[in-house]
Amino acid sequence: MAARRTLGTMDLCFLGTASAQPSSTRNHSAIAFRLGGDVWLFDCGEATQHRLQKSAVKMGRISKIFITHTHGDHIFGLLPLMASIANGAGGTIEDIEDPRTQRQGDVDPLEIYGPLGTRAYVRAGLAYTYTLLGAPYVVHELRFPTDPPDGDHTELPRHTSELPSGRNIPQVGGVWKDIFKDDLVSVSAAPILHSVPCVGYVIQEAPIPGKIESQNYIPSIKRTKTPMSVMSRLQQGESVELSDGTVLHGPPRRPGRKIVILGDTYDPSAVADIACSPDLLVHEATNAHLPGIDPTTKPTDTFESIEARAKSRGHSTPQMAAAFATRIGARRLVLNHFSPKYPGNDDVSAEARTTMEAIADLARKQFTGEIICARDLLTIEVKLP
Ligand SMILES: [Zn+2]
Ligand SMILES: [Zn+2]
Repeated sequence: MAARRTLGTMDLCFLGTASAQPSSTRNHSAIAFRLGGDVWLFDCGEATQHRLQKSAVKMGRISKIFITHTHGDHIFGLLPLMASIANGAGGTIEDIEDPRTQRQGDVDPLEIYGPLGTRAYVRAGLAYTYTLLGAPYVVHELRFPTDPPDGDHTELPRHTSELPSGRNIPQVGGVWKDIFKDDLVSVSAAPILHSVPCVGYVIQEAPIPGKIESQNYIPSIKRTKTPMSVMSRLQQGESVELSDGTVLHGPPRRPGRKIVILGDTYDPSAVADIACSPDLLVHEATNAHLPGIDPTTKPTDTFESIEARAKSRGHSTPQMAAAFATRIGARRLVLNHFSPKYPGNDDVSAEARTTMEAIADLARKQFTGEIICARDLLTIEVKLP
């Protein structure tokens, strides 16, 4: 594969936006992040592959899956998705060799990242369902300081398709820095507070070429009869010396795009330092106080009581999400992971639109940037300012 020089268009497709239980309009959590021809998945709730089939996201392009925490509504869809991606159905009877048991050559593995238990869950699920895969996978775990630093957290042997290169990544300085990094993009993570160990992910595009003003260069290039191809080096920010000793300097690089995707949380403070100034923040907003709009509102409910109840279950209100967006200087905030009682068909239903606008209004009290309430199959492009 030729080396990529840019990631091109980046977008997020919300495949599932419900908390706890799915509804007829919201599926369990999953977000597809498309970048440079690849797809990275963040969480993989039950029936994520069904949602993928209704979206423009190509399942075969999924190269990495990042799990925020191992609650079922964020991971129950992982095994069936892996089976579909890697030809995992069926099998052969005794004495007939299944070709999937052969080593799978130089195929790039599906890389899965998640907290302790992700590797054991995948291994057990594949083992007890007799699932063979036609492609390799590997699980890297983000180990908390209270976790065992080594080992697989299971007595089961490695699956025939599981590579032994899965890392147990320790926290350093309270974060997991650069758990993935190449020339174009890096991913870091940090713990966030929920009812179980949970992670927030930060995706940072590497600095990108500055805007080139070709009229500043072309006269010198022509005068010295230098091939025009030097423009591509200048575009990359390099300096070029011409035959007459003139040195041309390409425009300085500018910061790339930054996206923060948080799992379930009532306090994501520990990710704040590495999450500062993102172009987009995805934050849960499970519960909201919507008197007059939400018919399940009790007369005794208040903003404070709803917030206290959300926090006691490890979750946030729209105001809490918005306050965090302000704290880290986010440009745009996407609210996600809604109680299934808030309908997700606000593109076609006036009643749903009223509810989601009221939720966005609550967030607006704490955040002046753009606020979007996620709905299933909504796609949001991430652009530079
Ligand atoms: Zn959840
Ligand atoms: Zn959860």
